[in-house]
Amino acid sequence: MSTTHLLLTIIIYLLPAIYFFYSSIEIYLRNRKSKVNQSAALLVACFAVLCLAQLVLNLAPPAFSPFFYQTIFFPVILISTGLGMKFYFNLSKFGQRLSLTARIIIYCLPFCLFAPLSICTPYLVSGYVLDSLWIKPILGSFFPYLMMIFVFMYSLVENLLLIRMIRSTSGGHKRKYVMLMISSFITLLWGFVMFILSNLFPPYIAMPELSIHSVIFYVIAVRTIVKRYDMLPNESRKYEMLFELVPFGVALLDKDANIVEINAAGRQILTPPDDDGSHKAYSFLDAYPKEMHAQLLDSYRKQFDARQSLHNFEVTKISFRNHLPISFMVDTEFLEIGDETFVYMILRDITAHKEAEQRISFLAYHDALTGLPNRNLFQQRVNESLLQAQEEQQLLAVMLLDLDRFKIVNDSLGHQVGDRLLQFVAGLLSKPFYEGSTVARIGGDEFLILLPNLPDKQLGVQIGSELIARFQQSSYTEEGLELNVTASLGISFFPDDGEDVYSLIKSADISMYRAKEQGRNQMEAYQPSMSHKAHERLKLERNLRKAIEREELVLYYQPQIDLINGRVCGIEALVRWNSPEQGIIPPQQFIPFAEECGLIVPLSNWVLRNACLQSKRWQEEGLPALQVAVNISTLQFHQNHFAGNVQAILEETGLDPKYLCLEITESVAVQNQEQAIALLERLTTLGISIAIDDFGTGYSSLSLLNKLPVHQIKIDKSFIGDKSPQGAQIAKSIISLSRSLNMNVLAEGVETQEQYNFLMEHQCDSIQGYLISHPISASEFEIWLRARIESGEHQ
Ligand code: C2E
Ligand code: MG
Ligand code: MG
Repeated sequence: MSTTHLLLTIIIYLLPAIYFFYSSIEIYLRNRKSKVNQSAALLVACFAVLCLAQLVLNLAPPAFSPFFYQTIFFPVILISTGLGMKFYFNLSKFGQRLSLTARIIIYCLPFCLFAPLSICTPYLVSGYVLDSLWIKPILGSFFPYLMMIFVFMYSLVENLLLIRMIRSTSGGHKRKYVMLMISSFITLLWGFVMFILSNLFPPYIAMPELSIHSVIFYVIAVRTIVKRYDMLPNESRKYEMLFELVPFGVALLDKDANIVEINAAGRQILTPPDDDGSHKAYSFLDAYPKEMHAQLLDSYRKQFDARQSLHNFEVTKISFRNHLPISFMVDTEFLEIGDETFVYMILRDITAHKEAEQRISFLAYHDALTGLPNRNLFQQRVNESLLQAQEEQQLLAVMLLDLDRFKIVNDSLGHQVGDRLLQFVAGLLSKPFYEGSTVARIGGDEFLILLPNLPDKQLGVQIGSELIARFQQSSYTEEGLELNVTASLGISFFPDDGEDVYSLIKSADISMYRAKEQGRNQMEAYQPSMSHKAHERLKLERNLRKAIEREELVLYYQPQIDLINGRVCGIEALVRWNSPEQGIIPPQQFIPFAEECGLIVPLSNWVLRNACLQSKRWQEEGLPALQVAVNISTLQFHQNHFAGNVQAILEETGLDPKYLCLEITESVAVQNQEQAIALLERLTTLGISIAIDDFGTGYSSLSLLNKLPVHQIKIDKSFIGDKSPQGAQIAKSIISLSRSLNMNVLAEGVETQEQYNFLMEHQCDSIQGYLISHPISASEFEIWLRARIESGEHQ
């Protein structure tokens, strides 16, 4: 065998064989699951085997050639003919219309008819010629041509299927089928020409068998189509993925409402939780109670027969999964598959959407925190009741209920506790008390109550008192802390106190404020004279705000005397409002009000800053350094950043912290104890002193007092002024208690020499009171102190 022959054989047969094998694997790997890819890959692999057979045929000793030709070459051609048909059947889905037996017969027919002839008999190949280089079979007279005609017929059917597909598609798919058809024609043409050339005409016998190479075009076409046009296998894979992953439910139903096919989202809506789509078949009717099945099936069939499709049809049923109502939109279309018609159903779960819608409409008329009606709904109900009351000449009551000192709870214990407390109160008010009543929350800690169809005012007042009592009888416990919430309530009646909803609410509001002024925790019915007071309140708030801005506040100072050496040991800064209209106003008249409306915070900051500034100034002017005591309100103490604020003021004014004493009341420390102790410790580490003001009037326990980092106890003036033996006894006990706790004790409100002597006798540390000096302005105090120094009282 010459080298040229060897090389030529390799080029002509081995290279295409390698290319075909490579293509076959590539097509298969592109989508292993696809039947189209599988049959295409097998077909191309057959072409590779044919080339290999030719290679072996031409390289092996001539004695083996007939064997290869008859047992490999022809049988593989026959197998590939069947496979080719399988490929087209899969591609066009035409195969689905035929039964499995019919398909197997079609695929195997060429092989079964001709392979035995090829293998066992000389009917196909009658002999062989061997020229200088190539070996060729001499074909039998009749059967080979019959086989060719058979192969040609198969190819014809395949191309007819292609033409059908070309006609029924468009765009990229059309192009891919056209390309496949063209390559198929080229294959046939080339195969035919080469067969004629290399076999029929003896002058050309000295050339290799080239007809097999015709499939190169074909393989290239299949590969290109797989890559460029994303063959149908990919399409069906895409469709499968889309079917499974699409968030809508998709289901295919037959004429009896049986679910033939359903995706994951559809199963969520229509089938029980154990349905993973693999086994049991369900009916669309399973989504409904059994007793409805017959009727539903009947209407389903009617729609089916009339081909009536649904659009945006809303359905609500109980979910299999969580047994809650589930709502979905249904759209249907009819789909012909083969001879059968199916209902193609799209299901959109709109439960969340519906819930949101309901929630939105609920929130438009209800309060989100408590679920009670809001102002809108309340007004609507009052308006409806008013119409009836006008017609039937009835009474109607509107109540406004406001929690007492809710702001302190909110500021000291946090908004979350405040919210929970409001929910507790809503529960308290939701317990029935009058038929047809409406309780609404209108923001903050304010609740409105409507009592329609009242027989008389007396009943309204009685219900109001009962509600107040309801608060007194229950307490709210949060983290072991028991909060006794009380409420103030104002009540107004139609028609006397207002003829419309607005004036009724306004009157109830005014009377509620009156109840607050009267000491809270009570009910007030509206009286016309109250309007004036309410007006006054508003004026006061406006004026006080301006007073802080315009610096109309002044600080008075009251000295404190050490009983051991008679020296001035400190001063207490006491605020006054120097009103241009009313003159000096004492703190009792505006501090509680400032606490209520929140103005206490800017007011207290002003006091703290000015007391520190004044104290520092006196020190700079050479007066003896005295500790200045500043009163701290509860709200201010529980304010965020209180300690940081004090520190900033000390730095700003330059006052040494040891000259500042903060007076807090027992109630400040009782509320939110741990936080209060931590805050006090932080302040004392800065060097600031802490005094407990008005001691004995609050409800601090001994154990709490022991935990607090306090330097001084100020006995409340009520015990000093109390002439009874009990008063003296209490004062004595407080003094000895302070001693045992190692705290300094100061008596407030000392007015007489007798009181002075009593305190001296019982070893009180220091005193403060009119006996020594009234609270006086800064300039008066300066004169007072200098006079005292000069007289030698302060050495
Ligand atoms: P407090 O802290 O117990 O102040 C002592 C009060 O007793 C002062 O009343 C003072 O004038 C009065 N007082 C002093 N010596 C005597 C006396 O011998 N007999 C009698 N009957 N009273 C005496 P004031 O100045 O009217 O202050 C009343 C309360 O107002 C203070 O009680 C304090 O709780 C509050 N207050 C005053 N200034 C401020 C302030 O700047 N901030 C805060 N948060 N509260 C303040
Ligand atoms: Mg005080
Ligand atoms: Mg006091």
